[in-house]
Amino acid sequence: MNGDRPGGDATAALREALGDAVRPDFDAKFRFAAAGGAPECVVEPADIPGVVAAIDAARRAGLAVVPAGNGTHLRIGWRSRAPHLALSTRQMGRVLAHDAGDMTVRVECGATVAALDAALAAAGQWLPLDPPRAEAMTVGGLIAADRNGPLRLGYGGVRDWLIGVRAVMADGAVVRGGGQVVKNVAGYDLPRLFAGSFGTLGVLVEATFKVRPRAAALALGEWTAPTLAAALARAQAVMASDVQPVLLEAVNESAAEALGLDSGASVLIGVAGSPPHLDEQERRLAALSGGAAVRHAPERGDALLRALREFSQPADDDALVIRVGVLPTALPPVLAEIETAARRAGVVAEIAAHAGNGVAWCQLLGAPDEAALQGVAAAARAAALRGGGWAVYEAIPGELGERLDPWGFDAPALAVMRRVKAALDPDGLFSPGRFVGGI
Ligand SMILES: Cc1cc2nc3c(=O)[nH]c(=O)nc-3n(C[C@H](O)[C@H](O)[C@H](O)COP(=O)(O)OP(=O)(O)OC[C@H]3O[C@@H](n4cnc5c(N)ncnc54)[C@H](O)[C@@H]3O)c2cc1C
Repeated sequence: MNGDRPGGDATAALREALGDAVRPDFDAKFRFAAAGGAPECVVEPADIPGVVAAIDAARRAGLAVVPAGNGTHLRIGWRSRAPHLALSTRQMGRVLAHDAGDMTVRVECGATVAALDAALAAAGQWLPLDPPRAEAMTVGGLIAADRNGPLRLGYGGVRDWLIGVRAVMADGAVVRGGGQVVKNVAGYDLPRLFAGSFGTLGVLVEATFKVRPRAAALALGEWTAPTLAAALARAQAVMASDVQPVLLEAVNESAAEALGLDSGASVLIGVAGSPPHLDEQERRLAALSGGAAVRHAPERGDALLRALREFSQPADDDALVIRVGVLPTALPPVLAEIETAARRAGVVAEIAAHAGNGVAWCQLLGAPDEAALQGVAAAARAAALRGGGWAVYEAIPGELGERLDPWGFDAPALAVMRRVKAALDPDGLFSPGRFVGGI
């Protein structure tokens, strides 16, 4: 990047170049205050040429570019100190083409996940990803932050459904990767590369997904357990049985309380399909649990599903949120270590695990002081690494955010990731320093 002093002067120059797409007001800046500080200005282009112009103007002004949707997941990752422009796609929210026969949809990346869902629902179809904050999360954010939810067990993640992207790169080139059809020719797999890139490679402007018929209904069963370890064991028993769950969440007592369950630790079992299928699943679950598992009434089940989906969002401003990933079989020892470390430090650990996937969300709350919180976070990461996995701090409160490494993983893939970044964004224009290894 080059240019003169970034800041107020730059905003004026950007205004001149981009007109009304520049939003200098406080509200917009606050919304897009990515970790590390407010952007110098917020630009909300209405179309792809507007995105290209914004990138060009940022370069001239000596500003970095932080691609954004509605700002729901901008705080994940290293805090960037570079003066930057937040480039939001939220004015680009059209569903461009829904081919119900081919079961594909092409959408602008500023569309919210909820808006896309509503468009697909009209044709009885579904993109079966259930990230948190669907009303605000844009499709671009869904891809770049690689979000999913409890339904990942049954339906997979972003990379399983994304078949094409269109993106604006650092040199202003508008590139396509993948395509509109389910079967694609070979080539660089740009869509998968962008999934989980956290705004470091380019600005996603369009995405094509394959979709599927909407599940007729989803039912939620609950099987309580004395401890989290017992809940995880029950989840394993469900996995090994003839029950076919689309979600399987093991929660400890603190998480159960936060979710509004009054039964202590539990495993929640979701099944999807036609009413006879659901009845059959209920019968099998009752047989497996000796009658201990109960099916929630539809309204209650829906409320619990919503709460599970939102569980990964920080419970309050002081919460430290950790996403742990290990093999499902390694969850019991790793999560037991986290619970023990929290108990000793006087910290509340709410834990909900996608028991069939090996991903667990931990909310650390009510810490007596910063040192206690930091100690539990470190213990959680050490346990995850010992268990052959990783632990990412997705939300870090206050000053701790200046000191803790959010990613904490010296990935063997890091050298390749650095080369990819250097090839696609040689000047480090996009979200500099945000990702693992300071990418
Ligand atoms: C800190 C970390 C390090 C990882 N290191 C490796 C590795 O060395 N080799 C490997 O094959 N897989 C690595 N992974 C990927 C991990 O194993 C994937 O989660 C797994 O492949 C399942 O992919 P998923 O798309 O379902 O991702 P999820 O588990 O849902 O989430 C993956 C998230 O982690 C981030 N991520 C993806 N890959 C990496 C990476 N290499 N380094 C840092 N962050 C990453 C993405 O931004 C994405 O948001 C790492 C993940 C994390 C979080």
